[in-house]
Amino acid sequence: MRLRWGLVWALFLIAPVIVPASVPAWADIPLELDGTFAQGGIVVGQTDPAAEVHFGDLVLPVSDEGHFVFGFARDFEGPGEISIVLGEQTLSRTFDVAARQYNIQYVDGVPPETVTPPPEVLDRIRAEGAIKRAARADVTARTDFARPFIWPLTGIVTGTYGSQRVYNGTPRNPHLGIDIARPTGTPVVAPAAGTVTLAAPDMYFEGGLIFLDHGHGMIDVFMHLSEVLVEEGQEVEQGEVIGLVGAGGRATGPHLDWRMYVMGARVDPSNLVGPMPEEDDGADQ
Ligand SMILES: [Zn+2]
Repeated sequence: MRLRWGLVWALFLIAPVIVPASVPAWADIPLELDGTFAQGGIVVGQTDPAAEVHFGDLVLPVSDEGHFVFGFARDFEGPGEISIVLGEQTLSRTFDVAARQYNIQYVDGVPPETVTPPPEVLDRIRAEGAIKRAARADVTARTDFARPFIWPLTGIVTGTYGSQRVYNGTPRNPHLGIDIARPTGTPVVAPAAGTVTLAAPDMYFEGGLIFLDHGHGMIDVFMHLSEVLVEEGQEVEQGEVIGLVGAGGRATGPHLDWRMYVMGARVDPSNLVGPMPEEDDGADQ
C-alpha cells in the first residue's frame, strides 16, 4: 500500500514537468495516411474519432473508428495539406502530390450525335445532369471506403484516367474513368459494399448507369451498361453483380467505364485495386 501511494505521488510530481517539456502538443494526435499521393489519387486516413479533419477547404467526416478519406483531382497542384484538430491541439501535415502525364487519345467511330448533341436533346442532357448531381450530393456515414476494393470487371484496359479525348476529331473533356473492354453481357460486380444512389437504364452519354455510395463522399460510377440489375436505395455487398457490360451512350464498343468521386473530386478508382490481373485479360472470351 505504501509502495503504491509512493508511485502515485511520483507520477503526480513528475508528469506535469516532463510531459509538456519533452513532447510536442500534437504528439497526442494519432495520424495514419495510406494511399496514392498523385493527381487522381485517393488517401484513406485514420485519427482520433473525436478529431476534426481539414483538407483544403473541406471538413472531412470522421468515422467512429477515426477513418476519413480525401482525393486529388486530375489537375491538383501540390503540395497538399491536412490538419487534424483535437481540442486545443492541431496537427498539420503537408505532402507532395505527384503530377501525372496524360495521353491524348483519339477515339473515332462514336455516334456523332453523342459528340455534338443535336439541339432537341439538350433538355434531356440538362435534366440527366441534374439527376446525376443529386445522386452524388449526399455524404453518408457508410465506411466501406476504408476497406479493400476489388476490380468491378477484369479485361483489357482500353482507356485510362485523365487522357485528353478527341472524339471523331473533336476535342472534348478529359476522360476521367478507366475503360475495361469485355463482351456485352459480362457481369459487373460491386468493388466494395455500398448503397445504390442511381440506377438508370438509358442515359444519353452513359447508357445504363449506376452510382454506388461507399460513404464519406466516395461514390463510384459504372457506365455503358446493357442491363442495370439493381435499384436505387438498394444495398449491395462486395462482389455482388450490379449490371452487365454494354455499349450504350458515347461508346464505340462494349466496355465498362469505371469512375469515382471523393468529396466532389474526380479521382482514379484504379488506385484502389492495383494492376489488372494478367491471366484475366478477356482474350478467351
Ligand atoms: Zn470511358
